[in-house]
Amino acid sequence: MSDLRFIHVALPVPMRRIFDYLPHPEQQIVVGGRVRVPFGRRMMIGIVVGESDHSEWPVEQLKAIDEVFDQTPIWPPSLLDLFKWAGRYYQHPIGEVLSHALPKKLRLGEQPNSADIEVWQLTEAGAAQDSQSTKRAPKQWQLLELLKAGAQERATLSAQGVTGATIQAVAKKGWIEPAPLSALNESACCQPTQPPATTEQSIAITALCSRLQGFSVSLLEGITGSGKTRVYLDVMAQVIAKGKQVLVLVPEIGLTPQTLSRFRNHLGVRIGLVHSGLNDSERLAAWQAARTGELPVLLGTRSAIFTPMANLGLIVVDEEHDGSYKQQDGFRYQARDLAVMRARNEQVPLLLGSATPSFESLANVEAGRYQHLTLTERAAGGQLPQIAAIDMRQQVMSGPLSAPIINAMEQHLQDNNQVLVFLNRRGFSPVLLCHECGWFAECQRCNRPFTWHKGFRRLVCHHCQVERPVPHQCDSCGSTQLVPVGQGTEQLEEALQAQFPQYPVVRIDRDSTRRKDAFENLVADVQRGHYRILVGTQMLAKGHDFADVTLVIIADVDGALFSSDFRAGERMCQLLTQVSGRAGRAGQQAQVLLQTHYPDHPWVQQLQTEGYQQVAQALLAERKQAQLPPYAAIAIIRAEANDETKVAEFLASAESVLSEAARGVNDKGGVIVMAPGPCAMVRKAGRYRWQLALLAPQKSAIQQLLNQTLGEIEGSKLAQVVRWHVDVDPHDTV
Ligand code: ADP
Ligand code: ZN
Ligand code: ZN
Repeated sequence: MSDLRFIHVALPVPMRRIFDYLPHPEQQIVVGGRVRVPFGRRMMIGIVVGESDHSEWPVEQLKAIDEVFDQTPIWPPSLLDLFKWAGRYYQHPIGEVLSHALPKKLRLGEQPNSADIEVWQLTEAGAAQDSQSTKRAPKQWQLLELLKAGAQERATLSAQGVTGATIQAVAKKGWIEPAPLSALNESACCQPTQPPATTEQSIAITALCSRLQGFSVSLLEGITGSGKTRVYLDVMAQVIAKGKQVLVLVPEIGLTPQTLSRFRNHLGVRIGLVHSGLNDSERLAAWQAARTGELPVLLGTRSAIFTPMANLGLIVVDEEHDGSYKQQDGFRYQARDLAVMRARNEQVPLLLGSATPSFESLANVEAGRYQHLTLTERAAGGQLPQIAAIDMRQQVMSGPLSAPIINAMEQHLQDNNQVLVFLNRRGFSPVLLCHECGWFAECQRCNRPFTWHKGFRRLVCHHCQVERPVPHQCDSCGSTQLVPVGQGTEQLEEALQAQFPQYPVVRIDRDSTRRKDAFENLVADVQRGHYRILVGTQMLAKGHDFADVTLVIIADVDGALFSSDFRAGERMCQLLTQVSGRAGRAGQQAQVLLQTHYPDHPWVQQLQTEGYQQVAQALLAERKQAQLPPYAAIAIIRAEANDETKVAEFLASAESVLSEAARGVNDKGGVIVMAPGPCAMVRKAGRYRWQLALLAPQKSAIQQLLNQTLGEIEGSKLAQVVRWHVDVDPHDTV
């Protein structure tokens, strides 16, 4: 029996282990290939992660592999290694990690092929049309305009807001026709002449291009509007010229039509996209084109980091501080950190860019691990806006904004500019209160006030999304005097429209952009000058160029000053700097006004006088003092259940397992196991939530401790009763 082989298969099940099977009677299996196997009473598709002549299970209990899908591995070994590492590091079952990394069609057993890439080009008749012929169909005209620059694939068109229906309608008129794949490369050669790089840009480009061999990480810290994208593009062009591929990660909202056309025009090559609007075939087609090496550039959000690339030469992570790189449920990974590991595994350079780098990256610069490049001037001229705090304590408030702010707005609007008013709270008001008895409408599942959405005529819980009709009477005393307390963007929009009837106001938040493409359309309308006053949430803060905005108002700074999350200061300063950076991008002198009751607060002061870099240094010094990340590592175990005592018991038993094992680990690294306690929001969607934090000077110590103990914790009875998960390097800690 010595020639018996056992196949180790990772299956997408929430168990931290590998399953053993006997080989398929006829077909060859490969490590890294997909197989179908019997699992319990069903069949499941998994990935072969190894084979050996040893199994912990008795041979007679093992079943044979039912079907083999791949003759070659799905991923190169370096990427499979990365995924295995990620599973261990983030303490997530390897089968789920691998399944997460696959496009859905491959998870279902289909074969990768690039046959279904749909490419469209203009016909002669289409090229001859003008905007008059599509007067009543602006979407059709948009499509014709897009294709004037050359053929495009459907996935690219859909990222620019073109629907399948529009394509069909225009094709029926004979204005567009399917084109061969080769048309893509021919079409993308319309590089308009670029303005020369600025001196600072040239220095950064030269430094980066001298490091295109082997692994390195560079942090490009450039103020908003300094032209970081230009630097990426010039470096990417050099990599592509060598026949290599580039992977570019952008934040969730960063993948705009403008970004795409900028990349296309500058690089003159086909750009593949990975974004949430793709259908499964498009996703697979992009994946396959990247994997075979035929796609020079892949541009995508967080999950694009899992895409194999035959000939990777560079990874770029734009706005590297952005929270959307952290997956917040299921497989909780941080895509920027995976990019570092991937670049190391594949021996390629990694370029991180931001106006407000994460403290993790700043600490890596400080430790000499990352090369630091800076852009301190705006590329198109102009200064960073002046920031000033408006002390609300001395103001008589007749509406949501104080008199000095209204006056400043008046002035900027009269000068024909746009004004952006930022408030990070959706809805009309965060509380609906009974004027007579003090009762307020509260979500029974979260014990938090409902937000009143006047436009939808609903009360919505922003924590569990539950909705109910707006009551006409107080539940407690029956009074009909229900009054809104506090304000959200909806109320601000209403108040501003009343204050400035002659200037059109637009609101941009998750509610006003629910429909597909609504966000892109609103942004385009703002850029065309249809609106003069922009009210919105952080959707407005991210990377958009609003050339005519010269005044930015931050309506409420104070909320963030009270958060107990140790990252609150970092996030607030990033957000304020990013929002401020929307102003004055076309070179005009711009202004930022912060409304606050705490004008003397250190961050508020420092942001006014010194800017992000200095605030970051001060806050980093505090982190070092307090031994918090990035100078220490954290992992959190969170648990939730309808019964609070079960949650407390589960975490108490986890604590004792961890503390016991920590004694062994402590000789080397010292892991502090904190006592479990309720989360800041103890009840959500009806379930009670508690957490337990682990702290250590080294990430490896936490990893070692979790590796030793999770099996036991997972095996406990309570672990089956409560919902729980491990979050390594958590984004939120309260
Ligand atoms: P960032 O990403 O750093 O905020 P962008 O790359 O969006 O900055 O550039 C900001 C603006 O400056 C854009 O309008 C861009 O076209 C312009 N720009 C970038 N580089 C140059 C340059 N070398 N000369 C002139 N304008 C430039
Ligand atoms: Zn009442
Ligand atoms: Zn709720």
